[in-house]
Amino acid sequence: EVRVRFAPSPTGPLHIGGVRTALYNYLFARKMGGKMLLRIEDTDQNRFVPGAEQYIAESLKWCGIELDESPWSETPGPHAPYRQSERKPMYMEYAMQLINSGHAYYAFDTPEELDAMRARLTAAKVPNPQYNSITRTQMRNSLTLPEDEVKQLLDSGSPYVIRLKVPRKEEVRFNDMIRGWVVVHSSSIDDKVLMKSDGMPTYHLANIVDDHLMEITHVIRGEEWLPSAPLHVLLYRYFGWEDTMPQFAHLPLLLKPDGTGKLSKRDGDRLGFPVFPLEWHGTDVETGQPTVSSGYRESGYLPDAFINFLAFLGWNPGSQQEIFSMPELIEAFSIERVSKSPARFDQNKVRWYNEHYLRAKPDTELAQFLLAALQEHNIACSAEKAVQIVGAMKERVTFPQDFWREAQYFFIAPESYDEQVISKKWNAATASALLEFAQELPAHSDTTPEGIKTLLTMVLERQGVKIGQVLQALRVVVTGVAAGPDLMAIMSILGAQETAQRITTAVE
Ligand code: GLU
Repeated sequence: EVRVRFAPSPTGPLHIGGVRTALYNYLFARKMGGKMLLRIEDTDQNRFVPGAEQYIAESLKWCGIELDESPWSETPGPHAPYRQSERKPMYMEYAMQLINSGHAYYAFDTPEELDAMRARLTAAKVPNPQYNSITRTQMRNSLTLPEDEVKQLLDSGSPYVIRLKVPRKEEVRFNDMIRGWVVVHSSSIDDKVLMKSDGMPTYHLANIVDDHLMEITHVIRGEEWLPSAPLHVLLYRYFGWEDTMPQFAHLPLLLKPDGTGKLSKRDGDRLGFPVFPLEWHGTDVETGQPTVSSGYRESGYLPDAFINFLAFLGWNPGSQQEIFSMPELIEAFSIERVSKSPARFDQNKVRWYNEHYLRAKPDTELAQFLLAALQEHNIACSAEKAVQIVGAMKERVTFPQDFWREAQYFFIAPESYDEQVISKKWNAATASALLEFAQELPAHSDTTPEGIKTLLTMVLERQGVKIGQVLQALRVVVTGVAAGPDLMAIMSILGAQETAQRITTAVE
């Protein structure tokens, strides 16, 4: 059975890269008839951010990503607990297993000693200072200290960490489902800390132990974890778990809209698009001031649009089809079609998706958005009229809140008029033609858009004015603005009385 996991750290809000990882895991699990689980990786207590876990839960729920096992399920699940901090007592035993087999060792270096080592290497122009097979011989650890000294240090309660003993000259290789064979020389791998001095495991140890215990078959995660993968392969080998080692799939990077680098939170702020699924209330690390980062949900994106957009950031179905519901994504998804080249974020595309999904909704549902806004502004409106308005407007809006923003003139007569149109299009002939139209309109029996158009054409013919000459002016006196949906539809919805009234007010 396929078992995949999404393993976020609660260090802040989930960004769209994280949501995409969760989505691909979910699509793969459902496609394969397997299980999707979520594990909270909170071993780094210093980076813990209150509220982050709840944010993750709410975000996934909003996206429609369902979890088969998680810390939040009502029933505990076969591998509970699913929060690493609650699994803390389990990890030491595994670290000891590696100590006993000679694949890990105690290290007693103080922070000062580690700093001095780094300074020494940096001064010697070593490009990437590491604690590895070469440097460890100069450090204070159980590979360099006599056995009785090690015992004494441990007995006296000296702080220590447990490090992985990475072999000196070995090629570590694994077959990534997206990238193919990845080969890394062990000399470029750090003797990573597995157990910290506070008794907490590091990400690396906890992640491998939990993936093993939770019977994970595929690890699908972001490209930033690719450098850690060789280390993880070594851990599987030293634990003797190579036979059940999961398959790895490292997802491509997400790039800024201009393609010049990794997409960051700042790009969103600067270019005016959210990088988080939901609004996030945080604190500025430097100033301690509260901050608010915008979210897709609060900005008016529909989850279906967001998900459809995200799915295409690094994957494509191999056909021209662009619109996919969640069940269709599940059906079409395959890891083989995930690209290894970076995916460029495109804010126009996500707006395009939103327009599509918004327009696909029935007018009665769209009317609810408008009715809610009207209620907030204490404006009465029948459901029937709201349906008419959204029907006329929907080809022009991107977000649900646009209905109210763009349709205010249906409820509030204009108090000023678009100056440009007035200065160009307004003249005596127009004024008198429109006034006559306004006088005849209330008595006109057919107030459908077609009926209104017939009357207008008739009046204009009588006055010897071409329709093209007055249409813009008429729009502006009725709505105040130069752009909008079909004018005949607007006048029909407004009704003959109101339309006539607005024209007369403007002409006088
Ligand atoms: N806790 C890691 C993260 O925050 C998980 C990486 C992985 O999937 O192995 O992304």
